Amino acid sequence: MYVDAHIHLYADEFDMDREEVLKDAYRNDVELILSVSEDYETSIKNLDILRIYRPRYKIYLGLGIHPYTAIYNPDDLTKTVELISQYHDTIIAIGEVGLDKKYPDAMKYWDRQVEAFEKMIQLSIEYFKPLNIHSRRAAKDVLSLLRKYDVKLAYFHWYTDDEETLKEIVEEGYYVGFTPALLTSKRIQRYTEIVPLTQVFTESDGPVRYYGPLKNSRGEPKHIPLIVNKLAELYEVEVEEAIIVIRENFKRLFRLQYG
Ligand SMILES: [Zn+2]
Repeated sequence: MYVDAHIHLYADEFDMDREEVLKDAYRNDVELILSVSEDYETSIKNLDILRIYRPRYKIYLGLGIHPYTAIYNPDDLTKTVELISQYHDTIIAIGEVGLDKKYPDAMKYWDRQVEAFEKMIQLSIEYFKPLNIHSRRAAKDVLSLLRKYDVKLAYFHWYTDDEETLKEIVEEGYYVGFTPALLTSKRIQRYTEIVPLTQVFTESDGPVRYYGPLKNSRGEPKHIPLIVNKLAELYEVEVEEAIIVIRENFKRLFRLQYG
């Protein structure tokens, strides 16, 4: 059983065939799927998706304010905080949340980003829900906020920052996600020399598109086995072992019980 620890199932690109995407995931043994949200509207849509598909598929939810939302739509913060409080028993993560230094107005509205992320960190602690984190060009800043609040449960999705910060992330016991970018990027492949397999997650970040062998298709959970095959090669373990370790990682961080 494979893990997709970060996907945007609410995305419009999945509106036409969401059920097919989930069926394809299952046909490829990708059965643990964590769908994250980025603002109030997508949080609501994800809750609807959970109601519709949860009986048949092992979908789990993260609700949160993405740094993009914090910058461009700051009014969403208050009502999303209320929504998380209301549904804290339904979700398993706070996400997608974090900090970003690449968006055009990222620095202009840095204070907004920090305010939203700190609020998300507080909810994570209050409800004992791991953070599903976006940290583009801001991993150092994310790390210092996690330390400030003594956060224990955190997952850096699709990490792309420097190796020194990655070492510190690993030392803190946080988890790190690999997308299909692992298949083509030597820089990302080198991260596997820093992150022990026991702190690794796999994720599609669907519907995000990738270069390389997947360049003509939408990012989907069915691609996860390709990532695991590459991880098995890089970590020099059997594919079956990589599958088991990553599944146990998911279970450990998100405290799930399943068959
Ligand atoms: Zn994402």
